[in-house]
Amino acid sequence: MQFDSHIERLLAVAVDLVNLVTPGDARGVVYEPPTGEALVVGVADATSGPDRRSQPTQAQALSLVEVVPAVRAVFESAERHDLDAAAATVNELLESTGARPRLDADGTGRHQLHFHGPDDGYVRGWQAGLASGLAVALGSDLGGRLGVCAAPACDRVYVDASRNGTRRFCSPQCQSRVKAAAHRARTR
Ligand SMILES: [Zn+2]
Repeated sequence: MQFDSHIERLLAVAVDLVNLVTPGDARGVVYEPPTGEALVVGVADATSGPDRRSQPTQAQALSLVEVVPAVRAVFESAERHDLDAAAATVNELLESTGARPRLDADGTGRHQLHFHGPDDGYVRGWQAGLASGLAVALGSDLGGRLGVCAAPACDRVYVDASRNGTRRFCSPQCQSRVKAAAHRARTR
């Protein structure tokens, strides 16, 4: 089963925003989230598509990322296989963001299920979208595809889109770090 492209995109934005604003460790290096203008650029990058560049104000960027701790909590619960806790957090997010489903024409005569906020403004639209993407993932058999990197000195989140669902790391870098460490341990 594959995520539909809209859901895939919402989950990718969720991953990017969580990894942007969460302090901790990224691929073996201490990570400090950006502030000020750099944060605005990071949020704009995360929410931009190939055909449309987002241009949030600083206030909008700061408001949008207010939901990120809850979004991260969903990945952490899923990583622990605590799907009850993940679902409870997603339900709170759906409620607080006022997410509402809507069929939008895709330009080819078909319609795709999209999720909107209480208004179509940048902040509420994206917050509702993040909540909805997580809801669709958890409501399907794909809830286990949300994860937190298993490599040492890394706490970045990811969505496992692999065919067999066996991904454990946020990035190829973390996968090779762990492989190299295992190789060193074997040859020592
Ligand atoms: Zn990692």
